[in-house]
Amino acid sequence: MSTLYIAHPACLDHQTPFGHPERPDRIRAIERALEKERFTSLIREQAPMAEMDSLALAHPEDHILRLRDISPREGLVRIDEDTTMSPGTYEAALRGAGGAVLAVDEVMGGKVRNAFVAMRPPGHHAERVRAMGFCFFNNAAIAARHAQKKYCAERVAIFDWDVHHGNGTQDIFWSDETVLYCSTHEAPLYPGTGALSETGDHGTIVNAPLSAGDGSEAFREAVDTVIAPRIDSFAPDIIIISAGFDAHWRDPLASLNLTESDFAWATQKLMDLADRHCGQRIVSVLEGGYDLEGLAKSTAFHLDALMGREIGA
Ligand SMILES: [Zn+2]
Repeated sequence: MSTLYIAHPACLDHQTPFGHPERPDRIRAIERALEKERFTSLIREQAPMAEMDSLALAHPEDHILRLRDISPREGLVRIDEDTTMSPGTYEAALRGAGGAVLAVDEVMGGKVRNAFVAMRPPGHHAERVRAMGFCFFNNAAIAARHAQKKYCAERVAIFDWDVHHGNGTQDIFWSDETVLYCSTHEAPLYPGTGALSETGDHGTIVNAPLSAGDGSEAFREAVDTVIAPRIDSFAPDIIIISAGFDAHWRDPLASLNLTESDFAWATQKLMDLADRHCGQRIVSVLEGGYDLEGLAKSTAFHLDALMGREIGA
């Protein structure tokens, strides 16, 4: 069984203002890291544009159409302080969501063991009716609901290890007991949500905030003692990873001190859980990660793990 890598050059056409950390070079850095010989066995597919039906799994149709309608023909349109649309943004966002849907199709259909979607803009800050924090459509949420709707997955577990809390994913699944949303993130930090006390209407939101300066030890303890046991008892039919790599020590936007090995370790933890509960099915979607070297190395280690290679330490 194999690992699928989904991308599309259209994600480079989502332009952000000069100096913005969420930039096309992020994807170029990942692609360069994956040129190494050991990644030639990845199966590669291009991300299709998501259909309205798929987007509507997580967002109301009028909200989606409003984003389409405000897309600029030239220049940039500002959505909030740090979120902008360029002429290529809408298609890039559609392909990000479409890539997540395709990943679920290939994993649930048994064509591959797991899949990674290397697209931008990211998705986990996108709430049901609000684009924010560099995000437009919530790719992880759409993937989760697609697995439920098309493949009758009863329970989906999401682990979001981006350094920022995934307020959007939490918002979408707050009252949904069929989706377990787990997050490690730095607090206090943007967007300000993700307290321990935020547990959702059915206790299926699991937040494990970390403090600035925390590194491998605190992260691994949170995964081992809080998140992995919850995923284990939830017994999901598929696991989705919101894979942001901005908790890496090199990242300029936050102050956690994880290494690429920590992401490989967490990936292996989730693979053990997926092996036990759901036929190894994992779909991982790229979220943040703004230091190009930290992002590229972390993504390579994450993929090494998904491909079944043992990573030391
Ligand atoms: Zn982030």
